[in-house]
Amino acid sequence: MAYSSDIYRIVESKLANIRNKKQIEATKKRDDFLRKFPEAQKIETEISKFAIKIAKNIILGKDFSEKIDELKKKNLSLQNKLKNLERKFSPQKDFFEVNFQCKACKDTGYVSGSMCECMRLMLKKEVYEKLNKFSPISLCSFDTFSLSFYSDKSFEENKNSSPKKRMKKIFYFCKNYADKFSVKSENLLFQGATGLGKTHLSLAIAKKVIEVGFNVIYGSAQSLVLNLEKEKFSYFKEETQNFLKYFTECDLLILDDLGVEFPSTFSNFAIYNLIDTRLMFSKPTIISTNLSMLELEKKYSERLVSRILGEYVSVDFFGEDIRQQKRRKKDLEIIANQKKLTINFIGSK
Ligand SMILES: [Zn+2]
Repeated sequence: MAYSSDIYRIVESKLANIRNKKQIEATKKRDDFLRKFPEAQKIETEISKFAIKIAKNIILGKDFSEKIDELKKKNLSLQNKLKNLERKFSPQKDFFEVNFQCKACKDTGYVSGSMCECMRLMLKKEVYEKLNKFSPISLCSFDTFSLSFYSDKSFEENKNSSPKKRMKKIFYFCKNYADKFSVKSENLLFQGATGLGKTHLSLAIAKKVIEVGFNVIYGSAQSLVLNLEKEKFSYFKEETQNFLKYFTECDLLILDDLGVEFPSTFSNFAIYNLIDTRLMFSKPTIISTNLSMLELEKKYSERLVSRILGEYVSVDFFGEDIRQQKRRKKDLEIIANQKKLTINFIGSK
């Protein structure tokens, strides 16, 4: 995949920093060793004197075949003395070697002129970091999610249920989803009114899944459409065709606030196309929306709602407003019945 020149610059500079750090670490270890065993420094000087002596003789074309065995012997004995001291300092065999992060390319990014796998991964990671630059992923985690905002008052018709109990169930469902995330994870549809925790939990999932090394893009439907329309990100100027590619190819796409974007033929098409393509390639997506199924159907198309209903696990975020919950659940059941679909529903009981 082609990357813009500034992405290359960032990664190359990161690699140079890693290399530098690793070399400094190795120098420090050697310095500590020489401080502890000053005689090692003398031996090292002797060894280099031998090397110079041999090189000089070779350059001057002198015949020193008679002395060579003696020189070799002395040199070997000095090398052994040095090795013994090194072993005294650390029994680890490669202790004084530069401990490169990537042994294959020695943190240069290239092996025999070809790009190393480590650099390929770094380039990819850099792009995803840029794509999430304006998302508050670092601000929300499972640890900062509080159930205390939810009422533990049971609803009249169901004495065993309360918003807090249901949210607890949703919380653990999301946490488990993030902990066990794989490229084969299910698609999730977060539905419910604003302020019930949909964004917090989707951000917490994004954070956790990124931490374990997956490529995640988190963005609102509105920003997605805007970026697709305007190719807003400057670093995509050199790779405009790749923009949609990242959205369709990332391991997890989190599409926040579906339905708030300005409706247009383009936005409806872009969203349908993205959701459909990710389903086709079995790439997990999390959609969050304030809209009910009927509202989604009205805003987009029956086709889009059918795709979501058939392939997503519905996670319903409940608050105090029981009427809203009932309406939303009824909507979902009506549509599912019409389409003869079984809905996997989290949080309803
Ligand atoms: Zn490498």
